Amino acid sequence: MGHEGAPPGPGGEKRSAQHEGAPVKAALLEALAAAVGPAQVLTEGDLSAWEVDWRKRYRGRALAVVRPATTAEVAAVLRACAAHGTAVVPQGGNTGLVGASVPDASGTQVLVSLARLNRVRAVDAANLTLTAEAGCVLQAVQEAAAAQDLLFPLSLAAEGSCTIGGNLATNAGGTQVLRYGNARELCLGLEVVTPAGEIWDGLAGLRKDNTGYALRDLYIGAEGTLGVITAATLKLCPQPAARMTALASCADLEAATRLLQLAHARLGPGLTGFEVMGDLALTLVARHFPQLRRPLAPDPAAPWTVLVEQSDSEGEAHARGLFEGLLEAALESGLIADAAVAESVAQSKAMWHLREAIPLAQAEEGANVKHDIALPVSRVAAFVAATDTLLQRAFPGVRLVNFGHLGDGNLHYNVQAPDGVAAADFLREHEHAVNTIVYDAVGRFGGSISAEHGIGALKRDELAARKSPVALALMRDIKRALDPDGRMNPGRVL
Ligand SMILES: Cc1cc2nc3c(=O)[nH]c(=O)nc-3n(C[C@H](O)[C@H](O)[C@H](O)COP(=O)(O)OP(=O)(O)OC[C@H]3O[C@@H](n4cnc5c(N)ncnc54)[C@H](O)[C@@H]3O)c2cc1C
Repeated sequence: MGHEGAPPGPGGEKRSAQHEGAPVKAALLEALAAAVGPAQVLTEGDLSAWEVDWRKRYRGRALAVVRPATTAEVAAVLRACAAHGTAVVPQGGNTGLVGASVPDASGTQVLVSLARLNRVRAVDAANLTLTAEAGCVLQAVQEAAAAQDLLFPLSLAAEGSCTIGGNLATNAGGTQVLRYGNARELCLGLEVVTPAGEIWDGLAGLRKDNTGYALRDLYIGAEGTLGVITAATLKLCPQPAARMTALASCADLEAATRLLQLAHARLGPGLTGFEVMGDLALTLVARHFPQLRRPLAPDPAAPWTVLVEQSDSEGEAHARGLFEGLLEAALESGLIADAAVAESVAQSKAMWHLREAIPLAQAEEGANVKHDIALPVSRVAAFVAATDTLLQRAFPGVRLVNFGHLGDGNLHYNVQAPDGVAAADFLREHEHAVNTIVYDAVGRFGGSISAEHGIGALKRDELAARKSPVALALMRDIKRALDPDGRMNPGRVL
């Protein structure tokens, strides 16, 4: 079995035949090789690209990494795994943030990488749809739509490496949910391989189809625990005629929330993005990516920066009139202290780079306790005020790196060790207590412990403790019905 494109592991050790029944394993590897060809069944050398997650929190060991290139090959792989009672972990771009895309440490799970299943099968401009295979990188889908002068609006910082299958399996959100919805709302149909290796073709690009249960919606957001998504029919939109982007500084989150309300009123459906960034988040970006210019100088009296984006179907003059009217009204009423409007596509991109660099800057700064939470927009400011106080009281000097999609009520409310305290020590000693404070507050404010990243392994116990027992029982029933042997991504979500 080969391992293309990666050097052998330390000492070039053979990894095969070390686990459980060697003959059983050999028979499975043979069946997998028959399904996809021996070169696409990787068992030797450095497999860390597939076995270690993006945050480097989860390090697993796969029985084999299998790389099918067609739906039929995926089905053959899943039939082989079913015949041997073997667990399957689907993987796309391995950019997930909740420890759901890598195998566990048992060495008994087959990692199915969808990366080679990466064709755009069709663009139907009249139907405003695009059908892509699961391993298509999000950016490639955006580019295929743009080539037809159409827009696929899902957009997130990992778009150069995450895949459509992973986006759907996590029901990804990103920066344009406010206007266009999350991955679920952008998907009209799916093709799925079941744990038994059967293919369900639900790809018809219909906007209306009331023929029974919405199977598509079960697989979206299931994090690979019910089946393998092999293709999707996605919704496209007309490209906007003009885009406006600005950064504005606000004294507090209360003002930022009122600015959001004003933006809704002034821009209507043209309001496409509304991101918020706390001062510490931008300070970390300046520290780790000094080449990124900050158009608004840090202002202690206005420590929150908002990124507002508008898309307009009429044109530049119309967009600018509305957008500048919004910012003038906000300045006059004291909602914002200052603003900078992007005068070119390059300046707009630079503003987005600042926002998108935050998770990368945080990773550079050291491990942190991440929270991807959703709250009613109207309660975000009160939540942050109350929770900041509780955390500072419990862990004096703790650094709160707060940013996110305020327009959707989705905060990345991350907790970094106090200056001078080793990140690893802080996490080891306090992660659980930090989570308890944050998630208890989320509960009190009527929010959700996962907005867009999913549950994975990271939040599985929190889900079990905090989701309603009725909802959990229904979810377990669905899992049993669709994956009766519990072999799909075990230990994740439920
Ligand atoms: C820098 C950065 C920024 C991010 N920003 C955002 C953001 O703004 N919004 C947001 O929502 N998320 C964001 N994410 C996390 C997000 O979940 C992923 O980037 C993306 O949606 C996952 O796609 P992937 O192909 O990498 O999936 P993977 O990481 O490979 O897998 C994620 C999950 O999906 C499952 N899966 C993958 N492919 C399939 C398939 N074909 N069939 C069934 N299950 C499958 C896996 O088993 C796993 O449970 C960010 C991540 C990074 C690293």
